[in-house]
Amino acid sequence: MGSDLSKKRKIECALTAYKRLDEYYPDATCSLDLDDPYFFLVRAILSAQCTDLRVNKTVTELKTFVNGPEDVLSMGEERLSEIIRPCGLYKAKAKNIIGTTSIFVNKWNKTIPQNIDDILCCPGIGRKIANLLLGELYSIPALVVDTHFKRVAGRLGLTSSSDPTKIEKDVCAVTDPSMWIRMGHLFVAFGRDICDARNPRCEECPLNDICKGRIR
Ligand code: SF4
Repeated sequence: MGSDLSKKRKIECALTAYKRLDEYYPDATCSLDLDDPYFFLVRAILSAQCTDLRVNKTVTELKTFVNGPEDVLSMGEERLSEIIRPCGLYKAKAKNIIGTTSIFVNKWNKTIPQNIDDILCCPGIGRKIANLLLGELYSIPALVVDTHFKRVAGRLGLTSSSDPTKIEKDVCAVTDPSMWIRMGHLFVAFGRDICDARNPRCEECPLNDICKGRIR
């Protein structure tokens, strides 16, 4: 893979990938619905190991029973877990949603903080979700490292790590903060479309010439 790339090469590679994918996927954006900050937070928690499509559908269903965070707290963990069951890991997710909702209402006065350390205090929320919230809600530069980003960044040689926190650090070190939010969207779109986990379409890949991990 590309762990041997110099920092200068990584900077060039990241910028080239960004520019080409920006043209290739002009409409790339976050595919979780962003109707209001609270329900976006709920969607972010539900998104672990679940498709964004299913998450959006499930939250639409949830909203037929609740109007906001107080209703979710009144509903309780058991009933909530039944509704979010299609998203998988539903018991843990219900527990985390209730715990986070309680913080949202009682500690944050129903406004998601703009700094990562406060957000990370919530149960079930790691850097991926925290960065997603900062970027999508406040346009604060933050890099979301999901499974697609992890794979694409590794194949391009921007990181040699498999640890998301280290990947975030490695990629942030060779990119301008102004690129981070969009780069996340672009790598996800590209990872879903061309740089597939099992069958990457390297022959038709727009990054073929700069990819250290190309298969053919
Ligand atoms: S050349 Fe292949 S492995 Fe490299 S980025 Fe393109 S699709 Fe992915």
